[in-house]
Amino acid sequence: MTAQLLDGRVLAKSIREDLKKARQSLGDAPVRLVSIEVGQNPAAAVYVRNQLRAAEDVGIAMEHIHLPVSAGEAELLAAIEERNAHAEVAGVIVQRPLPPGIDPRSVQSAIAPGKDVEGMHPENLGSILYREPALPPCTAAAAQQLILSTGVDLRGAETVVVGHSEIVGKPIAVLLLHHLSTVTVCHVGTRNLADHTRRADIVVVAVGKAGLVHGDMLKEGAIVIDVGINQGADGKIVGDVDFDSVSAVAGHLTPVPGGVGPVTVAMLMRNTLRAAGASV
Ligand code: NAP
Repeated sequence: MTAQLLDGRVLAKSIREDLKKARQSLGDAPVRLVSIEVGQNPAAAVYVRNQLRAAEDVGIAMEHIHLPVSAGEAELLAAIEERNAHAEVAGVIVQRPLPPGIDPRSVQSAIAPGKDVEGMHPENLGSILYREPALPPCTAAAAQQLILSTGVDLRGAETVVVGHSEIVGKPIAVLLLHHLSTVTVCHVGTRNLADHTRRADIVVVAVGKAGLVHGDMLKEGAIVIDVGINQGADGKIVGDVDFDSVSAVAGHLTPVPGGVGPVTVAMLMRNTLRAAGASV
């Protein structure tokens, strides 16, 4: 079998078309998204550029603020607090990685839950257990969208999520559970990863280890969502799955780059419009 590529850029474009209509429904007042970065990081620069482009396309006024690398946690929290209090700001995001000495959890908890468009505030993350929240974590929501775009019936489908981080692996598992998929979560304590992945209809890999999943670990025709972003030996960006062997076995596969990443940005824009009051 040769996998059909799940092109995240194409899906993101079609999602943005729906978002443009939702944006229009909010009228002429600007929808403001504030992004805060402490210091300057080349990886963050790529994300910010993609976010700015998507925001402009959809009609969101995104402002990117740089704090000096010397800014401590107190200065960052004060910058967040100022935007929390600003009625015209719909959403606030803080770019990662953060410099040493700043606790990402304190920062995420400082963003007002209603403006937490990355969906990482404990209140938004926690509400995932009850139902799909208004502001789900963007990468988990992106994986869900990509899976749904294949048309698979998730009810009863066996899903294996590899990786159990708070912002990616765990929320993906719970979102798919809401669709009545039978979900297994694998992690560093899993005894034999391939025993699990081989029986899965859907495999989501979110670890950050290039080449973790090979084609011989999969069932023929499986849907494979590769969330990982790693620097390959030749300096190129690669995912967590071995592309050549996996694409020979899988039914659907997300490429890296161009898979989960663009849809994650689209989900950030969707969350921003929701935070501004749009039904989308
Ligand atoms: P993370 O916080 O480092 O979590 C990685 C997870 O993988 C942890 O739960 C870890 O378990 C688990 N793990 C480590 N080694 C493993 C192994 N050999 N087998 C199974 N599980 C293992 O990273 P993250 O934030 O979830 O991100 C995961 C990857 O996705 C990274 O490459 C990141 O860059 C990428 N990412 C992509 C996007 C996008 O938009 N495309 C967005 C976010 C993240 P322990 O904690 O127990 O060690």
